[in-house]
Amino acid sequence: MDELKNCPFCGGDADLIATDGRYGTFVCVACTICDAQSKRFTVHNYDDVFAGKAAQKAVHFWNKRE
Ligand SMILES: [Zn+2]
Repeated sequence: MDELKNCPFCGGDADLIATDGRYGTFVCVACTICDAQSKRFTVHNYDDVFAGKAAQKAVHFWNKRE
């Protein structure tokens, strides 16, 4: 898993978070300070929530915004 870059808006630490919704579980990266968030990616049944494909996509998405 790639390391998360700091928030592009406030420079704060970022974290992977998972959300359970009506259509399943999503992961996204969120800033712990200002609540900026990456796009959300759907976690499929066979996928690991914090280390699977969706999590990696969220990390990639977050890191390339800077
Ligand atoms: Zn921030």
